[in-house]
Amino acid sequence: MRCPFCQAQDTRVIDSRLASEGDQVRRRRECVACSERFTTYENAELLLPRMVKSDGTREPFDEGKLRTGMQRALEKRPVSVEDVEAAIHRIKKRLQGSGERELPARQLGEWVMDELRELDQVAYVRFASVYRSFQDVSAFREVIDGLERR
Ligand SMILES: [Zn+2]
Repeated sequence: MRCPFCQAQDTRVIDSRLASEGDQVRRRRECVACSERFTTYENAELLLPRMVKSDGTREPFDEGKLRTGMQRALEKRPVSVEDVEAAIHRIKKRLQGSGERELPARQLGEWVMDELRELDQVAYVRFASVYRSFQDVSAFREVIDGLERR
């Protein structure tokens, strides 16, 4: 890697460690020419599947949209930002782990509900009611009963 200080081509890695829960490699480098040190971060390119919506259209997975949806459900609930981020991280891992190029958006919705059920039951019911667009009281009761059975 080129040195950002003197543009020399030759730099060497003097330290290498995992960062960000092992998803990132942090490398400390030293320029062979000017001895300046700098840090680089290496990430695996995330190839996340595209979402197939119920009308058959496709769109790229949108982390911002996922976060907004979850935050809306969690509004004024006692759940920390760290816990929400950890949940988003797990959902992305599942997306990645699927190995698919495309996944039904419905599947993503189910995974979000899995996470919310563990985080906060009120948020879970809120999300489920919007997501499954409850048509009547019985659909709502089904979700509540599901919670009580756990
Ligand atoms: Zn240099």
